[in-house]
Amino acid sequence: MADVILKDVRKSFGALEVIKGVNLTIEAGEFCVFVGPSGCGKSTLLRMIAGLEEVTSGTIEIAGEDVTYAEPSKRGIAMVFQSYALYPHLTVAENIGFGLSLAHTPKAEIKRRVEAVAKVLQLEALLERKPKALSGGQRQRVAIGRAIIRDPHVFLFDEPLSNLDAALRAQMRIELTDLHAKLGNTMIYVTHDQVEAMTMADRIVVLNGGRVEQVGTPMELYDSPATPFVAGFIGSPR
Ligand code: ADP
Ligand code: MG
Repeated sequence: MADVILKDVRKSFGALEVIKGVNLTIEAGEFCVFVGPSGCGKSTLLRMIAGLEEVTSGTIEIAGEDVTYAEPSKRGIAMVFQSYALYPHLTVAENIGFGLSLAHTPKAEIKRRVEAVAKVLQLEALLERKPKALSGGQRQRVAIGRAIIRDPHVFLFDEPLSNLDAALRAQMRIELTDLHAKLGNTMIYVTHDQVEAMTMADRIVVLNGGRVEQVGTPMELYDSPATPFVAGFIGSPR
């Protein structure tokens, strides 16, 4: 079932058109990776799906609703960024539950949901710690926890692992694919790293200069790249 549908989405900043008519259908429950070189428009496209950037033209549907001009909070999405700012003065539990406290959710329910999220992310033993007492990977898990607790329909990730070292990145890739298997919701994951894309994605969208070059499973892209750009990009060493 189609979950996120983009129809001829375009974005210009002043005279510069950076997204040049993207048509895309993302299936419910799919782990979809947008990959492409720096500056090709990955973040801009993701930010338009999140509602953090307005489209210049085109439409965006999520879960059967036209959300092209809807507030970010009305789209059923949660986004995890590369630079995840945790609140340094709050504990892990308070960081994860922060959005729910803002919404005046009863304390007992916050506690129950924070504990459930902590279990999924293996943060149970760290709930009373402050961010400065955590490793990079643990902090990233807390940032993901803050997104999960809102029970989003669609998860959006913008290069969430690029600030981590290689070993931790490899571990977090596995954790994120496990998380996807557990939660089963739709995930759109942006990266410039083709290895990350090839190892994590159900389906890859290759972007180049604001356009979709090819959409396919990792095997499809590997076996039959549609353009020299795709062949070069997927095949290039990091
Ligand atoms: P990526 O995430 O793939 O690296 P971006 O979506 O960040 O690419 O950027 C795509 C293009 O849009 C780049 O040329 C970038 O300079 C430009 N761009 C992004 N945001 C803005 C903005 N707020 N104002 C002007 N240009 C922007
Ligand atoms: Mg980006």
